[in-house]
Amino acid sequence: MTPPPPPPRKDFPAFPFAPYPIQAEFMSFLYGALSSGPGALALLESPTGTGKTLSIICSALQWLLDRRDAAATAPAHPSGGAGPGEDDDEPDWMRDFTPLPPEKESTKKKPKPPAIRKAAGRRPRRRWEFLLEEYESDGEDGARHGVGKRAHCGSSSSSDGEELDEEEEEVTPKVYFTSRTHSQLSQFVGELKRTEFAGRIRTVCLGSRKNLCINKDVLKLGSANRINERCLELQKNKKSSKIKVEDDKRKARQAKNSCGCPMLRNRSLQKEFRSEVSNQGALDIEDLAHIGKKIGTCPYYGSRDMVRSADLVVLPYQSLLLKSARESLGLNLKNSVVIIDEAHNLADSLTNMYNSKITSSQLKAVLSHLDAYLNRFDNVLGAGNRRYIQTLTVLTRSFLRALINNQDGASTMSSMTINQFLFSLDIDNINIVKLCQYVKESNIIHKVSGYANKIPSIQDGVNQFNLQREHDEGSIIACFQALVDFLRSLLNSNDDGRIIVAKQKLSGQPEEAYLKFVMLCAEKIFSEVTRDAYAVILAGGTLQPIEETRLRLCPSLPPTDIKFFTCNHIVPPESILPIAVTRGPSGMTFDFSYNSRSSPSMIEELGRFICNIVTVVPEGVVMFFSSYDYERRVYDAWTTAGTISKICKKKHVFREPRNSADVESVLNKYKETIQSCSKNSQGQGINGALLLAVVGGKISEGINFSDGMGRCVIMVGLPYPSPSDVELVETIKHIETISSSFLVGDDKASGRKYDDECELQPGYDILRKCTKGGREYYENLCMKAVNQSIGRAIRHINDYAAMLLVDSRYAQASSSKSFSCPTDKLPQWIKARLSCAQNYGEVHRLLHQFFKFNKQKR
Ligand code: SF4
Repeated sequence: MTPPPPPPRKDFPAFPFAPYPIQAEFMSFLYGALSSGPGALALLESPTGTGKTLSIICSALQWLLDRRDAAATAPAHPSGGAGPGEDDDEPDWMRDFTPLPPEKESTKKKPKPPAIRKAAGRRPRRRWEFLLEEYESDGEDGARHGVGKRAHCGSSSSSDGEELDEEEEEVTPKVYFTSRTHSQLSQFVGELKRTEFAGRIRTVCLGSRKNLCINKDVLKLGSANRINERCLELQKNKKSSKIKVEDDKRKARQAKNSCGCPMLRNRSLQKEFRSEVSNQGALDIEDLAHIGKKIGTCPYYGSRDMVRSADLVVLPYQSLLLKSARESLGLNLKNSVVIIDEAHNLADSLTNMYNSKITSSQLKAVLSHLDAYLNRFDNVLGAGNRRYIQTLTVLTRSFLRALINNQDGASTMSSMTINQFLFSLDIDNINIVKLCQYVKESNIIHKVSGYANKIPSIQDGVNQFNLQREHDEGSIIACFQALVDFLRSLLNSNDDGRIIVAKQKLSGQPEEAYLKFVMLCAEKIFSEVTRDAYAVILAGGTLQPIEETRLRLCPSLPPTDIKFFTCNHIVPPESILPIAVTRGPSGMTFDFSYNSRSSPSMIEELGRFICNIVTVVPEGVVMFFSSYDYERRVYDAWTTAGTISKICKKKHVFREPRNSADVESVLNKYKETIQSCSKNSQGQGINGALLLAVVGGKISEGINFSDGMGRCVIMVGLPYPSPSDVELVETIKHIETISSSFLVGDDKASGRKYDDECELQPGYDILRKCTKGGREYYENLCMKAVNQSIGRAIRHINDYAAMLLVDSRYAQASSSKSFSCPTDKLPQWIKARLSCAQNYGEVHRLLHQFFKFNKQKR
């Protein structure tokens, strides 16, 4: 029996003010999608600056409370007889909302394997502390192993924390909200605090150790990888040490002879942490870190322990979408709602998480450590350990062999399937499943790394590989981890991804040789989430094209089964002015395709164009180029030609720095310049600033150019990614294959399948062969980048900005022979206002009218 469809809801009382119509529509749609039953998948698109986050909070959490109320008020036992779980007539949906029994897979004590024998137990420490406990395995599938697994204290709700006294009941259903970055999660919590739900809904925010660790000695390691490694190491090693706590109120304490980080040892402090966090309502990562420091207990594990009792879990992509992370955190998606924000590139984000890469230096370092370890302990290691370590060395040597380039001038980059890779190295007979299991259970990484760290001669040996030991990739454990990640990648199905073999170039270029597994199959990853969750919501500013999303995430789902919502911007149409600019001031046709863009005449014409634009546009102008190299080429040419001097008579010129650390200061100066010009402007002289930026650079995503910061955004050309990028070509081929598989009728007949040839054809050849899906994907990558860049300019209802798309291809009609019309892929609210100017005079006139009108209006 399925539950009756809930009535649509139009009122959302938690919304802190009267919603705009599009906000009310958004909330009703999301609520309706959730009510449409288990397995719902909905995509909701709402432009940035339209209150999307607040709308998500007020509809999804309202639904959660309504469903709880419905479950609570529904008759508990329709038959009047047996209790829940005992009555076959009980409707599914009632069972779905019964709290789950407190099961905790990760904390279940596994029976001790018979093969455990404490080989090193009676030996003196020092060198013997690095000796592996004996290991045997007898299952061919890697499922059962005798493992000398070191008992370590601390095994919390998660796999690597500390066990708490009592276990709280899992609250279900929950809402999981995930976004890309910590700052986006903090913004979400900030919006949540504006609603009554902040006090009514039990919320927990999960962050990384880098953001939440309060152990100063660990934190000072700097990089996220090193902090993770050290924290996990602490959980595994018995230690007696003093610890510095970041907050002076809690003085350093002497740790007893117990294990793990001292920040986890006092259970009463952990309870105090949970109690204080629960009392304070919705808190973001900074708040949690602050409370952890104040109390003197680890907020990272403290927040993880609160997941079971939470109604709303706010967490980064990696924690929710990586299966291993979900398992480690003990997340249970069953019956819960998963909301994935910023989902405009979800398929690529999913596959990127499963990529793995190992460089030749890392392989050499691993080999050196394994050899040293074997030399030292060979005669005392058990047969199982020796065999597996030898297998690891054989594999590492084989991988290094794959990277040797012995053909002068030969292609240094190739791509192959997993099976081809294994066969080519003659290692297809090695049981990698068992090997990975061994690495996981034997603690070999820490044993070998620990030994190497203590023995100076090995460290000297490692230094010869030029590993930057201060850097993430340089740590010994990180080298091993890279190998293990790569080995695990080889366990994927043959068609799930490709191995990229990048050999050392013979011409002396400094780029390092590497092996990389590139995951292609987003569907497999996404289906693990949709299979468990009650409903999945994808939200974003621009989610088009839906068909590509469907094809890559859930190709077998009929398009009609995906619910899709889109809306216009809240700004009135007259607040934006998008123009396709086809010609420059001297009448030259703008063509910034790869072959034409560097011609001196094209750069000169672009210079004339911008010199005119800065006179008519007030305040800030942001001009996007397709790459740093092209921006530099244009800037240098303009400097030589005196164009920069001319621009500087009207606007100060700033350039996007390549170094992330410098971005903030450049943006601050840009903003201050605009603000001071606005105050002092008398209509003469300098009237603002021009920022030369790069698509996909530091500025095009995540930075707002609201109000005067971006009165005009200029996109120079169409920023297609380079078709010579091997990973891109593999992705295009994969998408072309799946799109052919799901085409029907005539389209199917013309669909081509790509073979698994090792030789990569030049990217343009691949694109020419594409019939639909692959080419669409390539075009979409370009227009998504354009949309991300120009969408930065309008951030609220009173904002206004012009958007100039400078290239004649923006005015090109679609044809079956060429690529489709790029402007078809603009968001609807921009496309509806787009005009195509045939000459510069028209552009100038439209801009003049636009700014005059909007200035008078305000
Ligand atoms: S347990 Fe917490 S405080 Fe200690 S090292 Fe790990 S993250 Fe840091």
